Amino acid sequence: MKNSLIQYKGGGYEGCYWEWNYGVFDVNGSYHDIYSSGKSGCPTKRKIQRYIREREEGKDYYLYPLSSRKKLTEFADSSNPDHVKEIAKWFIVQKKIKLKIRWDAFQAPCVFCGESHHVSDLTPCSRKSQGGDVVGNTEFICNLCKTVNSSTTGILQ
Ligand SMILES: [Zn+2]
Repeated sequence: MKNSLIQYKGGGYEGCYWEWNYGVFDVNGSYHDIYSSGKSGCPTKRKIQRYIREREEGKDYYLYPLSSRKKLTEFADSSNPDHVKEIAKWFIVQKKIKLKIRWDAFQAPCVFCGESHHVSDLTPCSRKSQGGDVVGNTEFICNLCKTVNSSTTGILQ
């Protein structure tokens, strides 16, 4: 497994709670932990290999080759915007790990102006924030629209 992002069901402290965990295989096949938690978390290559052996792809985990625009777009479209942004940021700030990334796949439209921006320039937000239960962020807002809208509509927090 090389140059791929893995998204898997980690977590599991008590009962059967789980949360998405992430790791990446670099171009040489070395494994790097991005985020792992709980007893299902896999901070090491040995653990993630075992996880892959014992679990089901497409249900317990997803593999996204970083050179595949189609797969990365799939990841960006189907995952929590907060996670997509964190992963993109992680890729941007890490310097030592060799990856070949189709950066154009990490684009998303701003919910206000509709323009496509790189995810690192976007802030996850939710149009459905009426207070009360927080459902989580579902969309992105670009920096410009954020400046314009945050003061008038109170859309952000
Ligand atoms: Zn915008």
